[in-house]
Amino acid sequence: MLRLPPFEYRRPRTLDEAIRMRADAGPEGEFVAGGTDLYPNMKRRQQTPAVVIDLADLPDLRGVAAAPGGGLRLGAGLRLSEVESQKDLLAGYPAITGGAASISTPILRNMGTLGGNLLLDTRCNYYDQGYEWRRAIDFCMKKDGETCWVAPGSARCWAVQSSDLAPVVVALGAEVELRGREGARTIPAEALYLDDGMRFHSKRPDEVLVSISLPAPGGWRATYRKVRRRGSFDFPVLGTAVWARLAGRNGGAPLAEEPVVEEVRIVLGAVGSRPIRARAAEDALRGKALTEEAIRAAADLASRPAKPLDNTDFTIGWRKEIVRPEVARALREVAGRP
Ligand SMILES: Cc1cc2nc3c(=O)[nH]c(=O)nc-3n(C[C@H](O)[C@H](O)[C@H](O)COP(=O)(O)OP(=O)(O)OC[C@H]3O[C@@H](n4cnc5c(N)ncnc54)[C@H](O)[C@@H]3O)c2cc1C
Ligand code: SF4
Repeated sequence: MLRLPPFEYRRPRTLDEAIRMRADAGPEGEFVAGGTDLYPNMKRRQQTPAVVIDLADLPDLRGVAAAPGGGLRLGAGLRLSEVESQKDLLAGYPAITGGAASISTPILRNMGTLGGNLLLDTRCNYYDQGYEWRRAIDFCMKKDGETCWVAPGSARCWAVQSSDLAPVVVALGAEVELRGREGARTIPAEALYLDDGMRFHSKRPDEVLVSISLPAPGGWRATYRKVRRRGSFDFPVLGTAVWARLAGRNGGAPLAEEPVVEEVRIVLGAVGSRPIRARAAEDALRGKALTEEAIRAAADLASRPAKPLDNTDFTIGWRKEIVRPEVARALREVAGRP
């Protein structure tokens, strides 16, 4: 049985207290929310904080509230099962509720939070192993070693961003609120992510992810599709999030046969160290009728920035190949076509 290493556990009652405790702990500190990612990582000694600061009691991280402009503000501390079950409040955001429902298992979703999901550690077959396994290969650059076994000679780590909801919030154009010792800032969700498996987000260590603001629903559609080995539970090997505003669509009004794309975002998860925007595909679709031909051409373009490496499940070739049909399916879904 894997055991947790010794650590100091702190449970702040206010956001300010949490920020202060984290700043005081310095590089030895880490926040925890549901602990479904951090604690297994600690058991495998992938992360070894000496001080763990639990965010569970912070009221600022709770709840769903109206946001300016008609959108919704989701507290980062919402459990995934709460997100999944907010069918009425989140009726305009099926990509969020569906994405949350696709994560891990019901038991883990009762613990795991929205914020923890967006800040999930990046994954790699050479890293997501027990301590002895990793020691046998002399560790790797991401923790305790010097070499990247996926790309020896590489100066960076290629571990994979495997959060299901990260591509969804980027596709929706959501904003995230961060609060730390230097104050509060709100940034586009896209700016939260960096293309580096070791430094994969732009949050400062003492900053708490407080909330996620979603745009007002209506006038657009979004979907999330997940490819994984086991349907029961598994991390994505490809996540495809598509958001589109289509001409002739207003709220629930029916779509024209081939609606024109006014604006679109196509975001790929689990095929890079950050959620990847397929910008060439978006550019190709903007202003065009969403015909089957346009969908196929865009799906082809969208597969190009996907750069899977040999560090997760399935073969690289298949993971690259599957992008095209998945993007095409997602575009058909937002067009309301089977
Ligand atoms: C068997 C198994 C299967 C899983 N399957 C999936 C899957 O299919 N898809 C998927 O996306 N994930 C999956 N997960 C990962 C995990 O359960 C979820 O991503 C979950 O949402 C993580 O949330 P948490 O609150 O438990 O995170 P924690 O473990 O508490 O935290 C994760 C990281 O985020 C930081 N953090 C958390 N909240 C905040 C905050 N508010 N402010 C600042 N930092 C914060 C922590 O410091 C830590 O670094 C799986 C995990 C397991 C064990
Ligand atoms: S990509 Fe390389 S450095 Fe990063 S976790 Fe995998 S083996 Fe380690």
